[in-house]
Amino acid sequence: MSLAEITSRIHKAEQTAGRPIGATQLIAVSKVQPNARVQAVLESGHRLFGENKVQEAAGKWPQFREQYDGVSVHLLGPLQTNKARQAMDLFEAIHSLDRPKLANTLARLAQDMGKCPDLFIQVNTGQEPQKAGVLPVDADAFIAECRSMDLPVKGLMCIPPVDEEPSLHFALLGKIAARNGLDGLSMGMSSDFESAVALGATHVRVGSAIFGARDYS
Ligand SMILES: *Cc1c(COP(=O)(O)O)cnc(C)c1O
Repeated sequence: MSLAEITSRIHKAEQTAGRPIGATQLIAVSKVQPNARVQAVLESGHRLFGENKVQEAAGKWPQFREQYDGVSVHLLGPLQTNKARQAMDLFEAIHSLDRPKLANTLARLAQDMGKCPDLFIQVNTGQEPQKAGVLPVDADAFIAECRSMDLPVKGLMCIPPVDEEPSLHFALLGKIAARNGLDGLSMGMSSDFESAVALGATHVRVGSAIFGARDYS
């Protein structure tokens, strides 16, 4: 699917849901993709990208930022505390804040560095043991804790279980955000971004539908 096609589908979904056109930002998830594909998307004028790993992003984005103005890169994957400082330098936003230890580290670094990326708290809406994120029942307390540290919490993020209807998870994330007065909702990927937009996503994270399948070989 072309970028233009995805954008037009997002706009249609916004319209159907009675949301303003352009209310949803499209994060082009460039992890594992060859640089030539990423460059083609940059050439088309797109500027918002997502990566899963600090190391991979560090090897890719400083060069692209020299070539293109206005680039914004968001970290979507898990963040280890020992990479937090590097992540705060590399990314405009972090979508994977998921535990008090990481919140403490980010708060300390924010003081030290005088800046902090926008933060999204990841919620494990499917309560999957192998998946990152705070449990729904712990979300309110964790949001309050992060706010008490003056962290710039902009919203919530979820990755629904692969075998469940994603809209149930998007609705749950929206409910937790609303009762905590948070506007940002990072949800929806290649296979379900339209239903995420219908349920209020402010950021959809679309990879393979834009770039093609990832080649992990
Ligand atoms: C890889 C990834 C995406 C994009 O997945 P696609 O199915 O390729 O659109 C979105 N969000 C997260 C957290 C990811 O790791």
